Amino acid sequence: MRVEDPRIVAALADLGVELRHAESLADLTSLGIGGTTDLLRITKHESIPDLLNLLDSHGVPHRFLGGGSNLLVDDGELPWVVLQLGQPDPDLVIEGNIAHVDAAADLGRTVTYCAKHDLGGMEGLIGVPGTVGGALRMNAGAYGMQIGSYVREVKLYRAAARRLEILRGEQISFEYRHTSFAPDDMMLAVKLELPSKPYKEILQGIRICNEKRRSSQPLGQKSAGCIFKNPPGASAGRMIDELGLKGQSVGDARVSDRHANFFVNAGKASAKDMLALITNVRERVHASFHVELEHEVVIWDA
Ligand SMILES: Cc1cc2nc3c(=O)[nH]c(=O)nc-3n(C[C@H](O)[C@H](O)[C@H](O)COP(=O)(O)OP(=O)(O)OC[C@H]3O[C@@H](n4cnc5c(N)ncnc54)[C@H](O)[C@@H]3O)c2cc1C
Repeated sequence: MRVEDPRIVAALADLGVELRHAESLADLTSLGIGGTTDLLRITKHESIPDLLNLLDSHGVPHRFLGGGSNLLVDDGELPWVVLQLGQPDPDLVIEGNIAHVDAAADLGRTVTYCAKHDLGGMEGLIGVPGTVGGALRMNAGAYGMQIGSYVREVKLYRAAARRLEILRGEQISFEYRHTSFAPDDMMLAVKLELPSKPYKEILQGIRICNEKRRSSQPLGQKSAGCIFKNPPGASAGRMIDELGLKGQSVGDARVSDRHANFFVNAGKASAKDMLALITNVRERVHASFHVELEHEVVIWDA
């Protein structure tokens, strides 16, 4: 979608929003799949209510992009613009056991920065790409921990109320890769309360998690992490593996040989290829195990 109406272009400039024409979502997502659209980079949180009123009043649909590490985006010219937060400097401030983190901050850097200040708890998140905002939306987690456990406050744009609000941790429910945020809420900043731990001890935990990832995941390949959520008490990857589906492919979309719940773009896979592979695998798992696998990857179809 192109933002060409001069009235919108001028109003965006007034709001301090940077307009980037015809960005390729394949370049902005870890799967390397996706068509093109205009990207709006937000520099000031305070401008968001006016920005969304502007887009709504001109009938411009939008999607919200974090680091693009959990997304499968459709091919071709996309029928919505993409909004993304620009990174403030600094994006992370520590005060005692509280880390004040901007949603645009890189998750991995947040984990290591906190570690250097003797704040632990998030070791499992090392190696999870993307932003802190995306991690909040997805309640990212690994190796028995999830980010939601440390959330004390979230600043967000509430689409329903059309204003910026602050929610306390206990007002938000964080479940396995699911949160109670409304689909169009936009997370802007978070206060994390983290346990004190000596840096050396945190570093040791980080090394162990890194090693586990390196030995089990196709880290050098384009992926979006796990494609499916694990059903209660079961492992999606194990079921796919037991069906002998590792290496199965549609075009360049392929079930990883290393981790059966990681689907990789081994070349020039299209969204159509990846969706066909996802559907095939779901059907095979359903036929053999009578389990409906739910997507963990967020699918943006046009
Ligand atoms: C190699 C690899 C390993 C991974 N390992 C793990 C893992 O161990 N555990 C795990 O949980 N995940 C894992 N993931 C998936 C992914 O990294 C996480 O889900 C990550 O938290 C997504 O963040 P993002 O900023 O990239 O979000 P995006 O992919 O950009 O977006 C994901 C969703 O969040 C929404 N969103 C993003 N930012 C915001 C915001 N500020 N406000 C509101 N909505 C927002 C988007 O609209 C979209 O719906 C892995 C991915 C890869 C590629």
